[in-house]
Amino acid sequence: MTPFEAQERRWEAEINRRMGQGDGLEFTLAHFAKSVGADANDPALISFFNNLVRSTAARRIEACRCPLCASVLPANTVETLASCPYCQADFQQEGVEITVEYFYRLEGANSRDIRWVIVIHGMNSRAPWQEEFSWQIANRLRYSAPVLIYKYGWATIDVLITPLHRRLARRLGDRIRIAIKQATGSERPSKPDIIAHSFGTRLFSLILEDPDFQDLEFGRVITAGSIVRPDFDWSSHIESGRVEAVMNHVGGKDSAVPLAQYTIPGAGPGGKVGYASMSTLNVSNPQFGHSDFFVPQNLRTQIAEGGLWYDFLTRPLAHFRPHGAFVPALKWQPACWPVRALIRTLLYVVFCVAGPLSWLRRKIDP
Ligand SMILES: [Zn+2]
Repeated sequence: MTPFEAQERRWEAEINRRMGQGDGLEFTLAHFAKSVGADANDPALISFFNNLVRSTAARRIEACRCPLCASVLPANTVETLASCPYCQADFQQEGVEITVEYFYRLEGANSRDIRWVIVIHGMNSRAPWQEEFSWQIANRLRYSAPVLIYKYGWATIDVLITPLHRRLARRLGDRIRIAIKQATGSERPSKPDIIAHSFGTRLFSLILEDPDFQDLEFGRVITAGSIVRPDFDWSSHIESGRVEAVMNHVGGKDSAVPLAQYTIPGAGPGGKVGYASMSTLNVSNPQFGHSDFFVPQNLRTQIAEGGLWYDFLTRPLAHFRPHGAFVPALKWQPACWPVRALIRTLLYVVFCVAGPLSWLRRKIDP
């Protein structure tokens, strides 16, 4: 074997190791070169990678970075970007240009399996799409990962009262704890991935804040049509390891989310404005309304291989800035309290009238 062949064998071995372990699947040439003790400018290494790309074992991807804070910039906004959405630096003023770098992604293996998923619905859990949703998600996931679809029954007018939220959240937390115990018992990982919609996002955020549930840890979290406040402190939960990563899927035509802060105590328009926490990923679909994420056709697209949700749940996230990724433009402020108080008072009145009816309906139709 010539030294040249031996060297190539070593590189191949490193690629195989990474694919086998599902680790280090995305890297720049410089990083790879460093890990195998090669020179990134070595023509042999460059042609080795060109061959990998040609054989479709690897993909070459362009990533743009802010030259000042090194953040990866949302791919679809780069041409029009005058300043960095992360460090706010004005590129022209600073006399710098966006850094373009290439990285490679090894194909044919995912970084991560979807182990098991807990789906937390919004209100009105009888909507027809939710039946379809349960079916789709349970069938389309490639690894046939178990899916727990959590329903909390009727929560209609209850949402106006905070203590009832907490009770619903505690019930959900208890259920999740049981599921985690069962999962670890059957040698599954202890951290489920979460897909939460609408009011389910609020319940999930309450569990994260509740000291009684501090023992519960989660994998990757997708919130859709979120009514969590944009200033919710996701970062501290990500940094502490309780949550691996968060993607906030925003519907550009969502008309329910902006009303949340007036009707549901503690809620906010996270699913419209986006989350301010820098460690989260906000992705907008301009065509989606509040429940369009779960329309069978859209859902199928999202959880099929290469779909947004599938990619978020399986891919390495260091360079993951899908189409539609955005950083909230303005610092969000809740609407002034007299407005919120007035609207909520009106709704309390409605509650006192309609509450007994809601109770009655639950008794009749649990
Ligand atoms: Zn920056």
